[in-house]
Amino acid sequence: MRSKLVAGNWKMYKTAAEGAVLATAIRNGLRRKPGVEVAVCPPFTALTAVAQALAGSPIALGAQNLHPEAEGAHTGEISAVMLKEHGCVYVIVGHSERRRECGETDALVNAKALAALKAGLIPIVCVGETREEREAGRTEAVLTEQIRGSLAGLGDRLEGLVIAYEPVWAIGTGLTATPQQAQEAHAHIRRLLAAMGGRDAAARTRILYGGSVKPDNAADLFSQPDIDGGLIGGASLKADSFLAIVHSA
Ligand code: PEP
Repeated sequence: MRSKLVAGNWKMYKTAAEGAVLATAIRNGLRRKPGVEVAVCPPFTALTAVAQALAGSPIALGAQNLHPEAEGAHTGEISAVMLKEHGCVYVIVGHSERRRECGETDALVNAKALAALKAGLIPIVCVGETREEREAGRTEAVLTEQIRGSLAGLGDRLEGLVIAYEPVWAIGTGLTATPQQAQEAHAHIRRLLAAMGGRDAAARTRILYGGSVKPDNAADLFSQPDIDGGLIGGASLKADSFLAIVHSA
């Protein structure tokens, strides 16, 4: 069976000092439950402080982005090896904010996922449709294109990665996909994974839901058969709301 994963995406919030305080509060309030993994993804500058605050705890560290190359003349960029050195286990790739603000394409997301895997990191690959695409009835077509493009050549390595279905219209908006809408999208993604890597591998690959998950809607979302936890933005910035979500998984 798939274990659940609840990961906090702190985005561009929390200095190193603030991150250490938040990580400590999460660590102190966490009730461990078998089959539920927890991760936090702070900004690069807070990774070391958060790693120290979490040392010896079951909470994993993740980053929010990486460059596809191991090193080179890429001013302002960070490689997978550097993240690994700082204790990262996970790295988010292809978040819709980066697709929109930085022009990240499926091909670039694919290269980043490959680089992460090569360095021993677990990429959390984000996909999701915009409101216009959903209203035009194109949700499944968009997910098909993003999954095929972002995971090209990774059919035999599906279990080493995590997918996050994040409808763009639900991120940071307070609008959440209904459990049924999310389940339909997750089931579609799992069918795509099965076509790429076989049914067994697809059945073992975790697919998270992200988009305005809150303590009061998490349990209904997480109880859907193809939803294996969540990628949590705004609600991960306070220990009590993040822990309430974790504890409902
Ligand atoms: C996210 O940034 O991945 C996210 C899901 O944000 P929020 O929970 O704030 O919608």
